[in-house]
Amino acid sequence: MIDFALLKNEVEKIGINLDQYGFDRFDAYAERLVRWNNHVNLTAITAPDDIVIKHFADSLYILKYVQMSKAQKLIDIGTGAGFPGLPLLIAESELEVDFVDSVGKKLAFIKDVLRNSGLVASVIHNRAEELGKDEEYREKYDYAVARAVAPLNVLCEYGMPLVKPGGLFISLKGSTGKQELKQAENAIKILGGELLRFDEYTLSNGDERSIIIVRKISHTPTKYPRKSKKISTRPL
Ligand code: SAM
Repeated sequence: MIDFALLKNEVEKIGINLDQYGFDRFDAYAERLVRWNNHVNLTAITAPDDIVIKHFADSLYILKYVQMSKAQKLIDIGTGAGFPGLPLLIAESELEVDFVDSVGKKLAFIKDVLRNSGLVASVIHNRAEELGKDEEYREKYDYAVARAVAPLNVLCEYGMPLVKPGGLFISLKGSTGKQELKQAENAIKILGGELLRFDEYTLSNGDERSIIIVRKISHTPTKYPRKSKKISTRPL
């Protein structure tokens, strides 16, 4: 379904080596995404080239900034149809990935893609801020990643409690990244983080993107995350 030459070009630009399994898995993922989208609202992006650039390459850009080749634990917060976590897992299949979403139907889609691709990962039907209060998940991850879930100051309180000290919280944003980062400076500090990297770049189709990488330098105080309503109505 997808143009392999386009995908090859995109991954090479990012600096990733994808084997034939990888290409086939991305192809099957795209095909299922379009098919499932007929009955579950997963994405507005359905043209094959757009899927490659705006979903796959966009998600994989994280690997340009962070080496994730070892068996490390990653949580994808508000994963929806699997972005960015599923492309990361296809590219780095040794990662231990937990996909989290508050909407169960989206997770059924991810389970279907995983089963079909022979990839192993967990799906968790819950709100990220609930997991952040649960000893089983709190400060257990090397990486928490998210794209298009909430403004950064809100997202930090969803994600930072899940990252272990020394780990990274990685947020993919559009052109508003810089402004969101300014508004989230306080949240990052309170939750135990320090900005490691901010970068802006342009996807092949001209869309502007940014990446925010925060290192967890100390434990998140136990009073965070607060209740869902408070996080969004009174961001840190
Ligand atoms: N990350 C995907 C992407 O970039 O295509 C999906 C983005 S979609 C706009 C936002 C997703 O985040 C939805 O699937 C929604 O159910 C989920 N979500 C929002 N807040 C959440 C929370 N606090 N915990 C878990 N999932 C959440």
